Amino acid sequence: MLAPPGAGKGTQGERLASWAGVRHIAAGDLLRARASEASPLGRQIADYQARGDLVPDEVVLDVLTPVVVEAAAQGGYILDGFPRTLPQATAAADLAARLGVTLQAAIFLHAPDTVLTRRLLDRASQSGRADDNAEVIRHRLQVFAETTGLLVPYYTERGILVAVDADQPPDSVTADIQARLSAFRTCGPCS
Ligand code: ADP
Repeated sequence: MLAPPGAGKGTQGERLASWAGVRHIAAGDLLRARASEASPLGRQIADYQARGDLVPDEVVLDVLTPVVVEAAAQGGYILDGFPRTLPQATAAADLAARLGVTLQAAIFLHAPDTVLTRRLLDRASQSGRADDNAEVIRHRLQVFAETTGLLVPYYTERGILVAVDADQPPDSVTADIQARLSAFRTCGPCS
């Protein structure tokens, strides 16, 4: 799942994983868990996350790879928030090939920045996340536009991009994703 902050990839990723009967792997959550550890690596990850900068690729791969390997052995996975850079996309493809997994779809949830910003500010008081404040939200959206957004043409070229309008109620987004994936499974990216 490829989506800017606030597009709902956590919510939709969980729903999609239970619908498909596979594991939901949320990169941000796994990194936040490591960030809470009192270790030099934990503090380093926490600093990147608090600034809204991407955690270095090697660190992300070290954290994610064992979880992906385990999920593949159990039948598959939904990756949420990974990959976010071209080197991560290559690594994800190599890892899948090594594990005999087919990357079936890259779901791109999109919504205008004004909508994303409003959602993130609305949830800021409950989320308790250091990166849910106006300045860091602006930076996270910029990082998405400059870096992760490049994966949209990458997956389009590979014929697996499924773009879904995330500026709708959560149930409508879920219904759209499921409809698109069901069609996709029978005829490729045909709609
Ligand atoms: P959001 O998409 O709302 O920013 P996430 O929980 O997915 O929320 O990510 C929060 C932060 O975790 C990111 O700003 C970044 O610092 C780090 N992060 C998550 N996934 C990755 C990744 N694949 N590569 C690098 N950093 C990541």
